[in-house]
Amino acid sequence: MTTRTKEFSGKAIYRPKGKAGEYARWAANLYVGCSNGCTYCYCKKGILEHAMGGDRPELKKCFKDEHHAIWTFRYELIKNRSDIIRDGGIFLSFTTDPCLLSTWNVHYDCVLFALAAGVPVTILTKCVGWLNEPYTAALWNCKEFRERLCVGFTLTGMDEMEPNAASNDERIEAMQILSDKGIRTFASIEPVIDIQKSLEMIIRTKEICDMYKIGLLTGGQRNYSQNDVRDFILDVLYMSTWPIPVRKVYLKNSVLDAARLTREELYEQAETYGTADALADSDYDIFKTMTHEQH
Ligand code: SF4
Repeated sequence: MTTRTKEFSGKAIYRPKGKAGEYARWAANLYVGCSNGCTYCYCKKGILEHAMGGDRPELKKCFKDEHHAIWTFRYELIKNRSDIIRDGGIFLSFTTDPCLLSTWNVHYDCVLFALAAGVPVTILTKCVGWLNEPYTAALWNCKEFRERLCVGFTLTGMDEMEPNAASNDERIEAMQILSDKGIRTFASIEPVIDIQKSLEMIIRTKEICDMYKIGLLTGGQRNYSQNDVRDFILDVLYMSTWPIPVRKVYLKNSVLDAARLTREELYEQAETYGTADALADSDYDIFKTMTHEQH
């Protein structure tokens, strides 16, 4: 059921709209810019490039220093706490990778504060080094924190297009570690650059990934056709019939638009495979599912 939430746009926390709103209903951006160097980075394209396309993360100009950013995050989180909890928690981040070692200490502080305040947190990253920072272990040493945390890794299978990020293999290993600790995981299969590579990423992670969010490259850059996307969708649905099924999958509007399918038609196709239960909508709340630890 969709619930109405008042608009909010703070310095650190805001309610994303448009394509970002398809991904998360609340998000926090403290930094702009990112050193992972992805060649397809949406922050480095078009009108966003000047404001967000830096090759290094920098604190947003509205913050005087890191302490100001952290305290602003805390203030805005508490101000909206009940709405954020009701809407499935807060996402970090749309304008940088929050787990870059150069900024992880600041993001960690915010994540820990939110978890302690009872707010679910979803992180999306292409980094793995942050898992080895000794203080990071506080995120999973406490059962309540574990249950409120979800970590996603972007998996494209295209290391050469993500030159400074951890390799896709390293990200899968990190997902395994977190899954073993009883933390919810998801994979952002976005952008799909090479369909076969994306399918491989899904096949390799089915046992350790609680949810897939799949989205395409923007139109002009794709080298696959409408029929290729349709076949890709059928492959994903078919995979959900395997002995180890895909747990949940959300196909973003970009996938359905490219395949010229409505969401109703998608569900009808999934019914024919008996896999409609594996489909999620954009407002699916992963924190309402059980982890391996809870099963
Ligand atoms: S990790 Fe994200 S923000 Fe960083 S360069 Fe890659 S696409 Fe851009």
